[in-house]
Amino acid sequence: MLRTFDPLDHATIVGWLRETDPVSLERLWTRADAVRAAHVGGEVHLRGLVEISNHCIRHCLYCGIRACSDGLTRYRLTAEETLACARTARDLGYGTVVLQSGEDPGLTGEFITDVIRSIKSETGLAVTLSLGERTDEELRAWKAAGADRFLLRFETSDPELYRRIHPALPGTLSDRVAQLRRMREMGYEIGSGVMVGIPGQTWDILARDIELFRDLDIDMIGIGPFLPSPRTPLGGAVAEKMRAAADQQVPNSELATLKAVALTRLVCPEANLPSTTALATIDPANGRELGLVRGANIVMPNVTPPEYRVLYEIYPGKACIHETAEACQGCLEGRIHSIGRVVGKGPGGRLTRRARPVAEAR
Ligand code: SAM
Repeated sequence: MLRTFDPLDHATIVGWLRETDPVSLERLWTRADAVRAAHVGGEVHLRGLVEISNHCIRHCLYCGIRACSDGLTRYRLTAEETLACARTARDLGYGTVVLQSGEDPGLTGEFITDVIRSIKSETGLAVTLSLGERTDEELRAWKAAGADRFLLRFETSDPELYRRIHPALPGTLSDRVAQLRRMREMGYEIGSGVMVGIPGQTWDILARDIELFRDLDIDMIGIGPFLPSPRTPLGGAVAEKMRAAADQQVPNSELATLKAVALTRLVCPEANLPSTTALATIDPANGRELGLVRGANIVMPNVTPPEYRVLYEIYPGKACIHETAEACQGCLEGRIHSIGRVVGKGPGGRLTRRARPVAEAR
């Protein structure tokens, strides 16, 4: 039976995620690329990524910079170092700078506010923050200082799996979906995402993740393979214990990731979708390009100074880790041109937004 695209309901998404026939998958790739071209066009927008701190107070089971990661040298960029990275991003022609870190209270609300103000006044770049779970007071102050967007992956739509892989801090509740909703109300463009193949993630859960992107009308969606870090519980024996039954567990493969990217493009046609560094890490030769021809339209080149970049080790063997920002830029532009696409100009924010459902638009 020919697999269909309409309606893209739960059963259909699960069916496509489980699909292995190359001829059928070719239809999925073609469809995702056509929807990408129709809704966000042929431009690939580049966002300069600055990894401003690898300090973290969380104990996420998957992440190499988790609080108790042994033997990791910690760093935190100064305001001047961060501004210098933003200048590099501007000089390389990028429209956005993304400030990312572990969940680091050492990056105080005031510090980030000042950094945003300096970047905005000196470079005029769009500013995206990816600093984890922060207070509403901080989020409002950063928006007022000029921040445009905030990336916060919900990691999984399954509450039980979330609780296991992303333990809440003592005495607190971790609710990333609630923070995403509040940030939308504050005026941020909101970004989210998941890892593909995290132990315990079933096809059913991954389909619900994709449906949650649609329900939340997420503006930017980052999807990459889970890459085990030996510094973490999920890089060791715990992973085996957490895995779902063999016919249910999503593999952390390039193919599973590309299917999730393509289906996300179909259910969220207007969203900005990065071809992630994790995809480039799992397939250094073709991962970036395959993401871009199967639904993605964004790349986030790293502009962190190389001496710090090696310390932001969320998983080992990260792509482009030793290259300078300039070398990274040349390589990426070449890859983008090789697939017949062009580098986007300007901030590259979300272009259009369908009418939001009444319940959400309150
Ligand atoms: N601390 C912020 C947060 O948690 O939102 C931002 C930094 S965090 C390191 C960025 C993302 O890296 C996470 O949302 C997670 O999805 C991804 N990540 C962490 N460990 C990973 C791993 N082992 N493999 C693939 N992606 C990983």
